[in-house]
Amino acid sequence: MASHIGFPTALFYYSHYPFWLAFFNRLGIEVVTSPKTTKAILDDGSREAVADACIPIKLYHGHVLTLKDKVDAIFIPRMVKINRRTTFCPKFLGLPDMVRASLPHLPPIIDLQVDASRGLLGFWPTCRGLADLLGRTRREAWSAYLEGRHHHHAYQKLLQAGYLPLQAMAKLRGETVDAPARTPGSLNLAVLGYPYQVYDQYISLDIIGKLKKLQVNIWTMEMINPARLYRLSGRLPKRLFWHYSNLVLGAAYYYLRQENIDGIIHVTAFGCGPDAMVDKIMELDIRKFSRGQIPFMSVSIDEQTGDAGITTRLEAFIDMLHQKRRGNR
Ligand code: SF4
Repeated sequence: MASHIGFPTALFYYSHYPFWLAFFNRLGIEVVTSPKTTKAILDDGSREAVADACIPIKLYHGHVLTLKDKVDAIFIPRMVKINRRTTFCPKFLGLPDMVRASLPHLPPIIDLQVDASRGLLGFWPTCRGLADLLGRTRREAWSAYLEGRHHHHAYQKLLQAGYLPLQAMAKLRGETVDAPARTPGSLNLAVLGYPYQVYDQYISLDIIGKLKKLQVNIWTMEMINPARLYRLSGRLPKRLFWHYSNLVLGAAYYYLRQENIDGIIHVTAFGCGPDAMVDKIMELDIRKFSRGQIPFMSVSIDEQTGDAGITTRLEAFIDMLHQKRRGNR
């Protein structure tokens, strides 16, 4: 029976890890996470994953490899739906198969499906299946599920209060974390994108850290209630099919309505099919709905993206926003 389960710190880690950590812990199982992304982890993932995969998927492979000899099993659920309406991108749907095919000699992969489209209890069917697999009773599974939900709600509350995901997780662990602070008079920038791109410091080239050094107040998609984001994505003539894509566009529409927002940055992954659409729709709709008043910048990330290039682009964008503010006075 597995007593150490591996959880790669990539993809849905930033959205759902607190739930799964609490769930497994309540069942007496230790969760082992992969370390922070490094060049070696990304290089290993890029070498082993299928060549045309997007960078977050390649990175996920690298994180799985770091867990290979440390755990009894690796948790790679097949993420299909976490609500009744939208579906995860095909790469999430095929993730356990892709990993199995590309990385031989792994410990067993726990690949139960997450499909919350048919019931009101979200992850419960998956939790029930996990309990069967791990030799736990339904009663134990239900109690662990409730524990997971409790942690997930606490996590969401922290995110919506302005904590970034890693800070919110640290706070849930009981660590001391500075409360989110905004500097009055500073520029306000919405930094939007899939959480596994925006918050992985290595592949995002620490865009958030760089902007903070430039004294900018950061606003992200996770700071808004997901149900509200989904409602806002109804501004599209037809909602997109993919889960995270609707949330990102919903966040763009939300921040467009906020008077304090000076600009919007979209962090996008090279090789991401859904993002090819999201990025263009975002650019056109920001221009249309703000009547050209909110500047927009798209930052595409791949393995070759250079730190200096990103820094220069961010600095130029911030300079332009300062000039625009001065011009509006
Ligand atoms: S949405 Fe895009 S970046 Fe995310 S896994 Fe799918 S293809 Fe990759």
